[in-house]
Amino acid sequence: MSSTTHNHTDASCIFCKIIAGSIPSMKLFETDKVYAFLDIGPIAPKHCLVIPKWHGAKITDIPDDYLMEIAPALKRIAIASGEENYNLLANAGTIAHQVVMHLHWHFIPKPDEKQGLGVGWPAT
Ligand code: C5P
Repeated sequence: MSSTTHNHTDASCIFCKIIAGSIPSMKLFETDKVYAFLDIGPIAPKHCLVIPKWHGAKITDIPDDYLMEIAPALKRIAIASGEENYNLLANAGTIAHQVVMHLHWHFIPKPDEKQGLGVGWPAT
């Protein structure tokens, strides 16, 4: 799928550059309006991010039609990961520890330490 709907961009934004392909990422999948990729600094195996193809820092900055593709993308990741325990979260604002000012949801598995860390990533 192309990035044809990625019209609202910020040339200085690292996530806009990832969507555009001008800097590399470990892409899981993309749709017309969202892009999913592995976090470059994972705090757990399979830690990944889902971002809208619309530049804005917070949920209040993003058009509804882009937001409506976020939840199905997170569901797709949860299914593909096979994980039973995980956190889904979006930091908003510097006090809330947002570092990249392009809205993103984290998918952060919480592996059961009794069963060992999850291995592999079915990017389907
Ligand atoms: O929510 P917050 O803004 O704090 O997190 C930003 C996330 O973006 C970090 O987990 C960081 O590892 C990730 N990141 C990335 N690829 C980049 C830059 C940042 O996955 N090129």
